[in-house]
Amino acid sequence: MIQLIRGFRDILPGESERWQAIEDTARAVLSDFGFREIRIPILEATELFTRSIGENTDIVEKEMYTFEDRKGDFVTLRPEATASIVRSYIQHKLYAGDPFHKLFTTGPMFRRERPQKGRYRQFYQINAEVLGSDSPLIDAQLVFILKILFSKLGVSDTTAHINSLGCPVCRPAFKKALIDHVVGMDTKLCVDCARRKTKNPLRLLDCKVPSCREAMAKAPDMMAFLCPDCREHFQRFKTALSVLGVAYVTDPRLVRGLDYYTRSTFEIQTNALGAQNAIAGGGRYDGLVKALGGPEMPATGFAIGLDRLAEILKNDTELQTGHPKVFIAAIGRESREKAFEWVCRLNEKGIPAEMDFGDRGLKAQMKRADKLASRYVIIVGEKELSAKTAVLRNMSEAQQEAIPFSMLIKMVIERIANAS
Ligand code: AMP
Repeated sequence: MIQLIRGFRDILPGESERWQAIEDTARAVLSDFGFREIRIPILEATELFTRSIGENTDIVEKEMYTFEDRKGDFVTLRPEATASIVRSYIQHKLYAGDPFHKLFTTGPMFRRERPQKGRYRQFYQINAEVLGSDSPLIDAQLVFILKILFSKLGVSDTTAHINSLGCPVCRPAFKKALIDHVVGMDTKLCVDCARRKTKNPLRLLDCKVPSCREAMAKAPDMMAFLCPDCREHFQRFKTALSVLGVAYVTDPRLVRGLDYYTRSTFEIQTNALGAQNAIAGGGRYDGLVKALGGPEMPATGFAIGLDRLAEILKNDTELQTGHPKVFIAAIGRESREKAFEWVCRLNEKGIPAEMDFGDRGLKAQMKRADKLASRYVIIVGEKELSAKTAVLRNMSEAQQEAIPFSMLIKMVIERIANAS
């Protein structure tokens, strides 16, 4: 039997309804905040990611699904969406006229990480990006949107962690201080940190290996290095969060694994998951549009991890909407043909309805209706056919009534509308 590739998975019915509910809620919230959808390809030129994410990152060094296509071009299954959105923004000159754009997208990302609960090789994100503004108020709005979205979904156990990564003016001194801090500590650093310490020293701060953590326990703090502009930017970000009632924790260890982030950075963490506790992350990337060949253009954004969000909401029964509202139990071929017509008519009117296409008895069919948690069951057999009257049974109230065929669809629709 051919099986799934490790780290990849199927989202089956029963689970997919929850995913849809999350996506629908996210679309509605993002649309309320003025975001418009952009759809971008899954496959891009490899160079897009090596240039934007940076050579000395886990993603580019060891996690990308890269291959040479039949013409010898190097292509990569996207490990994240921001680079593609920026590419598209530049390629289609979306900055001409009004450069300010609020864009969102959703879809699969691919990273060859070590699979574990909450970490997959194909995983899904909802991305929101705001291009064309350097205002810290936009950063605060993004964190606010995440808070609103998570609370609408009933995920309350979340904390916003924030930090500032500075800018090209002040970050070099901080990077140097980090490099100086680990001088002579090579034996304590993990292989990755030891190798990358001079090229990507920020990563030293969020490495999870205990000996690296120990080595960095007394590491310098970016806050002490922020230039006056970055300091003011960060202060205004924090003030705006307070005004919006978003509680936050300043976390000097919060760095992003991607090179292009500047200034505000944030992550939403939850206690509802195990080790993989981040359900959304993002921040400002003021240098990226220029680095990818566009004009000087500040930008900021976030990515929500859909897989992890769906995992948290696993026990939320309200999001399990796959059950038909109506089940039609039909006995005999002629009744089944009648039932089939009704099922199609109800489906046409937007009412989930189901029936048995086999030759099973009433008892077995009622059992199935029960299992499907149908609210109503319509029963039709020989007796009902000759009287041209079906039995409509309300399952939760255990009551039933006889309804003429000619009125059936209309009455069922009415009953359902009144009940909900
Ligand atoms: P990043 O693009 O690394 O900033 O990640 C943003 C969010 O995507 C994280 O907070 C996670 O919720 C989610 N995420 C990242 N990598 C994975 C993965 N391998 N599997 C599942 N979710 C992931």
